[in-house]
Amino acid sequence: MPTAFTHMLIGAAASQLAPAGVPKGRLAVLLALAAAAPDLDVIGFSLGVPYGALLGHRGLSHSLFFAALLGAAIALAVPARGPKFRRNLMAIFFIAFAAVASHGLLDAATDAGLGIGFLLPFSDQRYFLPFRPIATAPINPQRFFSAGRWHLMISEMLWVWLPLAALTLSFQLGRRMGRSDPRSQALSR
Ligand SMILES: [Zn+2]
Repeated sequence: MPTAFTHMLIGAAASQLAPAGVPKGRLAVLLALAAAAPDLDVIGFSLGVPYGALLGHRGLSHSLFFAALLGAAIALAVPARGPKFRRNLMAIFFIAFAAVASHGLLDAATDAGLGIGFLLPFSDQRYFLPFRPIATAPINPQRFFSAGRWHLMISEMLWVWLPLAALTLSFQLGRRMGRSDPRSQALSR
């Protein structure tokens, strides 16, 4: 798995996609926590849950089904009032679903461990992406800071942080240019 920090970064960045009127600060905090939440399944190791089980690491909590459930809970937790209530509610659901599902996708691009149970509880097949450039972080976070582990951080910076920063910057620039375009302002009136 990548570090929790990297998953949280993606969740927080996804909040930028929310439509106007949605409280983005609150959404950013919720999405950051939600994007890291699937790894709470590591508690199962100390309870004797096997890695490959339904509730094992990278199992149900990393599935698209779980992402949809958590996405729905977040959509209900974030106030999306006003005349565009339905549109905002659906937008928050899809953004939250994508933020949580991004966790499994990122894990599927790591170079060790078991694959991801994307289709649980309907299929127990575990999946990896064909391209897996991200170095796997240790499950115990204390070991992450031990000597010789800095290549993990460099791997995440290269394959996640930099592309994410470029995407966020392009998105913000595009949005600002759209706002300053008089034609789009006329259309939005
Ligand atoms: Zn994970």
